[in-house]
Amino acid sequence: MSTQASSISRECVTSYIDGQWQPAGAHLLDVVNPATEQVVARLSEADAAETDRAVQAARRAHQQGVWAGKPAAEKQAIFRQIAQLTEAHLDELAQLESLNSGLPLRYLRSRQLPRIVRNFSFFADWQSQNVEKAGIQDDQYLRYVLREPAGVAALISPWNAPLALASTKIAAALSFGNCCVLKTAETTPLAVARFMEILTQAGVPPGVVNLINGRGAVTGDALVRHPDVRVVSFTGGTATGRAIAAAAAPGLKRVDLELGGKSANIVTATANLDDALDGALTSIYTNNGQQCFAGSRILLHRSIADEFIRRFVARAQAIRVGDPLDPGTEVGPLSNAAHYARVVSFVALAEQEGGRLLCGGKRPANLPTGYYLEPTAVLMPSNDNRVCQEEIFGPFAAFQVFDDFEDAIRIANASEFGLVSYLWSNDLAQVNRATRAIEAGVVLVNTPMVLDLRFPFGGYKNSGVGREGIEGMRHFYTEEKTVTIALKRPPMERLGAA
Ligand code: NAD
Repeated sequence: MSTQASSISRECVTSYIDGQWQPAGAHLLDVVNPATEQVVARLSEADAAETDRAVQAARRAHQQGVWAGKPAAEKQAIFRQIAQLTEAHLDELAQLESLNSGLPLRYLRSRQLPRIVRNFSFFADWQSQNVEKAGIQDDQYLRYVLREPAGVAALISPWNAPLALASTKIAAALSFGNCCVLKTAETTPLAVARFMEILTQAGVPPGVVNLINGRGAVTGDALVRHPDVRVVSFTGGTATGRAIAAAAAPGLKRVDLELGGKSANIVTATANLDDALDGALTSIYTNNGQQCFAGSRILLHRSIADEFIRRFVARAQAIRVGDPLDPGTEVGPLSNAAHYARVVSFVALAEQEGGRLLCGGKRPANLPTGYYLEPTAVLMPSNDNRVCQEEIFGPFAAFQVFDDFEDAIRIANASEFGLVSYLWSNDLAQVNRATRAIEAGVVLVNTPMVLDLRFPFGGYKNSGVGREGIEGMRHFYTEEKTVTIALKRPPMERLGAA
């Protein structure tokens, strides 16, 4: 793999096992730039045999203790080095990421990728603070809990924030002493592949982090089913999450599932409308609308609905859509052809379901190629339709109007998902009511999403199982072993002694 974004073109991304790029295999997939629809690289799909080699490399590294056995200070130093090298290569990583994901360079460079630097720094700090304490002590027994790495972790990540999500999984798995095999999304391998070299350069020993590439049903499935994999951390769609849980079940593997959402964004009559407007636009159109925590159902109190929609539409129409590599671009193309076709299909569906198109719904006239869609908004007559129930995962907002606050809560909860909910209100009673009544893993009041690893992130209902905050990760990536040592002869029967 080249280190230069410019020379990636037509190169082949292969597996990275034991600190080495592997030769390309028989099955190659195209990596496409969604802004141009051109092939920019190829990807060599790992079959079951190559997946096994990656798992064996991680298993050897685990058994030899090359990572877990390192003194905490050394692991911390490596984490800090990863943070520094990532920071030094942010421009290059952002270019690679943009090239195959279509995410705007300015967003990657200013928001999404700097999170990686912060995450590795966070885990480095946390390692220095984490001291396991003895459990119960009395005069009969000394007891304590040994917390040990779970073993080989399978990490499976999606294409909407390829490096940010994959690297967070790597940081967490390593922080708790595990070795891992990552299968990133097959359409967006470029920045993740480059990051493997950064890990090695920072001092992560061979075999501790391995990368395999390929389609979910081939490479991902082989990884999940591998008998030497102990835990599976997955971020992606709900249907895939179900398939992974089923594949992991016979091996009784622990799974963490961070899945889809259809989050409500409730704007009340007491909201600061300027803030709510910025928040609503950010929550649906950032990241090209491809955010698990998108505020995709915007619920407006009738008293402010007309004004809010008018201002929202004016701003949505002014969003700069275009080449993601242009630093002025705010929204780029959707990730791939199949996804684009699916998102666009919801425009006609909204009208069939009685909705009214407020803005967007078509390709921008000045962008004849690339998977571009104008920021779109529809007004829906009710919550009981596919537009309001299915995760569209694009720059597509669905408005609904409510009269009564309890109705807003009922609508917010009338969903198979429960990832996030947003509320814009300056009424304390409403805030207290909503934060308790809403069925979602994260509730944000008067703010768009703020990620913080000290706090749990994850979903209720079909949005997932498990939490990606520090405590949830600690339980997920470790086994607890209770040790009991008798301090004096314990009470025991003396069978056969009499
Ligand atoms: P996806 O489920 O199609 O794919 C995610 C990953 O799973 C990819 O690497 C894919 O190759 C792999 N995969 C697919 N089938 C598999 C199988 N049978 N076995 C093993 N691996 C398999 O998701 P996507 O389309 O890449 O991402 C979008 C989805 O991810 C959206 O639903 C979004 O809400 C969700 N997401 C959730 C979060 C969260 O934290 N809750 C964050 C980001 C994205």
